[in-house]
Amino acid sequence: MKPIRIKEQYEVTDDPATGHERILGSTYEEDILSDRGSINTLGKVTHYALHCGCYDEIGGRCYECGAISCVKCHGRCAVCSCPICQAHSIFVPSEGGRQLKLCRQCYDKTVRRRRIVGVTRFLLSPFIRFERRHENRT
Ligand SMILES: [Zn+2]
Ligand SMILES: [Zn+2]
Ligand SMILES: [Zn+2]
Repeated sequence: MKPIRIKEQYEVTDDPATGHERILGSTYEEDILSDRGSINTLGKVTHYALHCGCYDEIGGRCYECGAISCVKCHGRCAVCSCPICQAHSIFVPSEGGRQLKLCRQCYDKTVRRRRIVGVTRFLLSPFIRFERRHENRT
């Protein structure tokens, strides 16, 4: 059965993080003439979540992965203040029990340096090979 009317509508917003239009939701509707002569309307409403899974206001775009997060999930690195999403935020406990949000680069530069011995051991371990050379001098 062919629909006699199709209606497609998009709800959009100007995304300050990307400068582009972003789709918030869409509605799709079609009217179908049934066998009994009635006009039936079928449709669906789709909501588009942000990359963080929320429907809230946009907080910004992650410099690392480009994900658009809401105001609650999006953050800034405490050291270099680059924008980071929840997935790329590394939380580091600081003095006073406060949690510092760091980007990966700043985490590598500051936190890891203090534990350089342990980190070096960890990084090197997969490359350690216990190969023995059997010298055959006959
Ligand atoms: Zn990210
Ligand atoms: Zn969110
Ligand atoms: Zn940083």
